[in-house]
Amino acid sequence: MLNRILIVDDDIALNQSMHEFLAMLDFIVCAVSNAEKALDFLKKENFDVVITDIRMPGMDGLELTEMIKKDYDSDVIIMTGYSDENSYENAINKGASDIVFKPVRFKELLLRLKRVLRERQLKRERFEMLEKLNKLAITDNLTKLYNSRYFYDQIDLEIDRFNRYNHSLSLLLFDIDYFKEYNDKYGHLQGDKVLTKIGSITKSCLRKMDTACRYGGEEFTVILPEINCQEAEHVAKRIRAAVEKEAFSPVPGSTVTITISVGVTEHNADEDIPTFVQRADKAMYEAKGKGRNRIYSIPS
Ligand code: GH3
Ligand code: MG
Ligand code: MG
Repeated sequence: MLNRILIVDDDIALNQSMHEFLAMLDFIVCAVSNAEKALDFLKKENFDVVITDIRMPGMDGLELTEMIKKDYDSDVIIMTGYSDENSYENAINKGASDIVFKPVRFKELLLRLKRVLRERQLKRERFEMLEKLNKLAITDNLTKLYNSRYFYDQIDLEIDRFNRYNHSLSLLLFDIDYFKEYNDKYGHLQGDKVLTKIGSITKSCLRKMDTACRYGGEEFTVILPEINCQEAEHVAKRIRAAVEKEAFSPVPGSTVTITISVGVTEHNADEDIPTFVQRADKAMYEAKGKGRNRIYSIPS
C-alpha cells in the first residue's frame, strides 16, 4: 500500500518541488498552503505523514502539529528555517516525529521520512500483535466463546452498570446433560464437536450486547444485560430448543441429540458476584434434579 503524505507550506515553490520529488518516489502526495487547509484535508482523508512548515500565515506549524497529534493518527515532520537551539525540542514536545531545517535537502528529508514510516509500521505491527494476544487471553480456544476470565471481568462491569443505571441484569448457566456418556461412547473428539456447535448455537440465539462464555469444561454462561429473569427465561428456552433440535452424527449414519439444563437468575442490588453466580448454578442443578433438558429459574 502506498504511503500518503501531506505537505503544508506557504512557500509555493518549495511546496511544488517537494510535491514533485515525493510523487516521483511512489508516495501519494497532497500539498496545501496553510494549516487550516491541512486540517480540512485531514478531516476527509488519512495521511501517514504530514510535513509542515512552522511559520505560516494563520495557524503555525507547531499548533497544527499539536492538533494533529490530538485528533489524528498521522506522524508529523516539521520544517523550519529558524535553527535556534530550541526548535528541535519544541517540535518534539508538540509531538513531531522529526524535524528538517531549511533550505531542505530532499535527500535528507527522504531519509527522515523513510525512518518515520518504518517506525510507524513497527508500531502498527506491535499494536496488532497486542490486540491478537489480548483476544487470545479472553477467548476459549475450542468454542471461540469468551473464557471464564472474561466472564468475571464482564460481569463485574455489568454489575457496575446495573448499579449506575438501575437496569435489570440476568444470567444463564447451563450444562450439557449426560455428557460423560456421550464422551465415553463416541470419544472426546466427538464431544469437542458438540461443545463447539453448542457455542455457535448459543451465539446465534443472542443479541449483540449479550456475552456468552465457556465457563468450564461443559458449562456455559450467558450474561444478559437489561432484561429481567422472565425475559431471560425466553432466551434460555430458545437456546435449549435450538440445541435439542441439532442432529449430531458422531458415527456415520447415526443421529444423536444433545440436551442441556439451564439455570436462570437475575441480579439483586447489593449482592456480590459469587452469590449471583452461585444462584444461577443452584438453578441449573434444580433443572438437572427435575429431570434435565429444562429451564429452572430462581429470580432472586
Ligand atoms: P449431567 O447430566 O449430570 O451433567 O451429567 P454429565 O455426564 O454431563 O456430567 P459429568 O460432570 O459426570 O461429566 C461431565 C463430562 O464433561 C465429563 C467430561 O469428560 C466432559 N468434558 C468436560 N470438558 C470437556 C471437553 O473439553 N471436551 C470434551 N469432549 N468433554 C469434556
Ligand atoms: Mg458439569
Ligand atoms: Mg453435564
